[in-house]
Amino acid sequence: MLNPRKLVFRVVMILLMVVSTPSSTSHAQGGIEVENATVAVDFGKTITFTAKIKSPIPIKQVSLLFRGVDETVTRVETVQVAEDGSVSFTYDASLNVFPPFSSIVFWFQATLADDKTYTSAPITFPYNDNRFPWRETTRGNVTVHWYAGDDAFGAAALDAAGKGMLAMNEIIPVSLTEPVNIYIYSNISDLQNTLMLGGEKWVGGHANPALGVVLVAIAPGSSQAMELETAIPHELTHVMMYRSLGSKYDSQPAWLLEGVASMMELYPNPDYKRALDIASKNDSLIAFNDLCVSFPTDAGNAYLAYAQSQSFVSYIRETYGTSGLGRLTSSYGDGFPCELGATNALGTPLSQLDSRWRESVLGQNIAGVAARNLSPFILLMILVLVVPIWGAIDILLQRRKRANHSK
Ligand SMILES: [Zn+2]
Repeated sequence: MLNPRKLVFRVVMILLMVVSTPSSTSHAQGGIEVENATVAVDFGKTITFTAKIKSPIPIKQVSLLFRGVDETVTRVETVQVAEDGSVSFTYDASLNVFPPFSSIVFWFQATLADDKTYTSAPITFPYNDNRFPWRETTRGNVTVHWYAGDDAFGAAALDAAGKGMLAMNEIIPVSLTEPVNIYIYSNISDLQNTLMLGGEKWVGGHANPALGVVLVAIAPGSSQAMELETAIPHELTHVMMYRSLGSKYDSQPAWLLEGVASMMELYPNPDYKRALDIASKNDSLIAFNDLCVSFPTDAGNAYLAYAQSQSFVSYIRETYGTSGLGRLTSSYGDGFPCELGATNALGTPLSQLDSRWRESVLGQNIAGVAARNLSPFILLMILVLVVPIWGAIDILLQRRKRANHSK
């Protein structure tokens, strides 16, 4: 339910946004001067903006405006101005919609005694998860950030990213210049908190492809290499696919994006095979047409959706080659719906690809496969056997007719 007061507030914000976007303003900035502008981020709790507004004539009113750099809606807050021009505003970031490690832009608008409104230059700052003592190491365009584990852990993470990019280069163009930032949390609950704070549902790892940010949860230890080489290539694939597809990324079905990303995991998950076998036996596989928009939210079905997608996309790649996968992403990028995108790219609708995958990978419905493989022969048999039979019946009937006539 949308709270009506919130709705009014939103409408006001949107109206204000139109007149207040910094790039569209032509007001002389000379009317006000902003000094000592600072932002204090207490990640997931508060964002405190402070500054001193200077003007040659008295100030009537000051507003603080801010938004995520990629957002279209701007938040507008009227702020109290102290005698010396100091302003301060604390935003409740626990209601957060700002993604972690995104950038926020803010500026001020002041109405002065001349009744004119003046706008300050925009200032951008990072909204980083600063709850942890991040360390970092960079190779090429990839920077790894971590807070648990030694130098070797950071180096191993960079290696995993490098191996992943080498592997994915076979099927998608890999950007080696645009920066990617990989943040490695040491446990799932730290990562989970971050994602929930960012308004995202929980998943094992997370990529914000538009920001070029990857978040994973991996503890240093004996299984670190395997975990790094599974999670990092998966999430990096999302970033690289986004960079190669641009605005067409969002029109890809979830099963295709997750299938390609899961296929790039350098350590195949043995539990995926088990999950597939069980679901196949219990007849609880999810139709790929139901995995187009999003994945199930409950952990069990989400897990199955990943297992299915990885197997299905691998099957498509084996059957139609890397070029077939490319045709599929262009087809969906061109706006074809889920079922028909596959027909357009591969000559087979999604639901039929789904059955063929169930048959050839999971061994389901063997009779169906046999019947289809035999269908040309069956048609031939019909022609060979049935047509002469019809002919024979026809001859018999005509004979009988003639016999009747002769009576
Ligand atoms: Zn994914």
